Amino acid sequence: MPARNILVINCGSSSIKFALVNEEQAAFPLQGLAERLGSPEAVLHWQLGEAKESLDIPHADHRAALERLLPLAQEAAGGHLDGIGHRVVHGGEHFTGSTLIDDAVLDAVRTAAQLAPLHNPANLTGIEAAMALFPGLPQVSVFDTAFHQTMPEYAYRYAVPEFLYREHGVRRYGFHGTSHLYVSKRAAELTGLPVNDSCWLTAHLGNGSSTCAIVNGESRDTSMGLTPLEGLAMGTRSGDVDPNLHNYLARNLGWTLDQVDRMLNHESGLKGLSGLSNDMRTLYEARIAGHAGASLAFEVFCYRLAKSLAGMACALPRLDGLVFTGGIGENSSAIRARTLEHLKLFNFKLDDEANARCIRGVAGEIQATGSPRVMVVPTNEERQIAIDTLTLLDA
Ligand code: AMP
Repeated sequence: MPARNILVINCGSSSIKFALVNEEQAAFPLQGLAERLGSPEAVLHWQLGEAKESLDIPHADHRAALERLLPLAQEAAGGHLDGIGHRVVHGGEHFTGSTLIDDAVLDAVRTAAQLAPLHNPANLTGIEAAMALFPGLPQVSVFDTAFHQTMPEYAYRYAVPEFLYREHGVRRYGFHGTSHLYVSKRAAELTGLPVNDSCWLTAHLGNGSSTCAIVNGESRDTSMGLTPLEGLAMGTRSGDVDPNLHNYLARNLGWTLDQVDRMLNHESGLKGLSGLSNDMRTLYEARIAGHAGASLAFEVFCYRLAKSLAGMACALPRLDGLVFTGGIGENSSAIRARTLEHLKLFNFKLDDEANARCIRGVAGEIQATGSPRVMVVPTNEERQIAIDTLTLLDA
């Protein structure tokens, strides 16, 4: 049987990220981004092999952009696509794994949209457009939340009245599941440990960031909650704050819920603390140049991360390794080093040379002799979505 090709689609409200994944090739034959959809500046960028191209597609919506990118995907796949894998942010409690899409699945994704009003509707738009364009092709949805459905109840429940959970789904769900799953499996592969007998702490550190405790291939706890706002300090998100902050700002500043929501999601985190940028690379450079806000943002990020990892350790019977991933985790040796300085009780110690070497896609172990294992493992959510899609096709 020839190697199969899966088109992986990740729809945002005005963008589509896509990649063609071939089951036997490490590099994606085709990848790209359609952005500013619905506006006069809509544009499609793609990379086919080494060649990069762009095409203006003024006013194109999701469907029009998919119509443009399908022939590209089919050509890159040698004329034959085997399936499409869609990233869907929230699967609620309904989805404990990836699933072939049918009308019942679409209904359940619509229901879960009340938990992710910004993300699920965009994901649905992409699925519906792709199904209309390729009715004969199997399509699979892969949920950011599904991997965390193995958390025990004591980890996923908030200490709030029970009816809020039973009647309104108020609980911790967790996100970035595809990434935590992928890097923990890779870490097991790279170290020769069996997935079903290994224990990991994973830190996915990008614009959004979360930690996870994984035991024998299952998520046991994670730092994000009902929404991706809970947990670590992130690019523009505050992470954990005192829940009474809402009340305080309403009473003292007259803020509405929408204002608080906007501030916590878009004006906080690294951006809010530094007053400079949500981008860790920019902050790292500014910190070296003596920018006090950038320095504070860097320090808060590392300390909160260390605290979260120490908390996640409660979910593990032992530790086989701590894994860093995501744009920051894969590239910033300084963040990794500073975070571990706060975890002295765990006896972490880095090999400075290995820590400096593991950047820009280089995976490896970076601990010094005698320290628990610390790894850098580049994430590959597209590959995990393609793996899930192929597994369902095989079934
Ligand atoms: P992601 O959302 O996974 O693409 O990660 C984006 C984040 O990774 C941004 O904050 C980038 O500044 C950060 N990043 C990428 N490269 C580096 C680097 N060399 N040092 C620090 N942060 C980096």
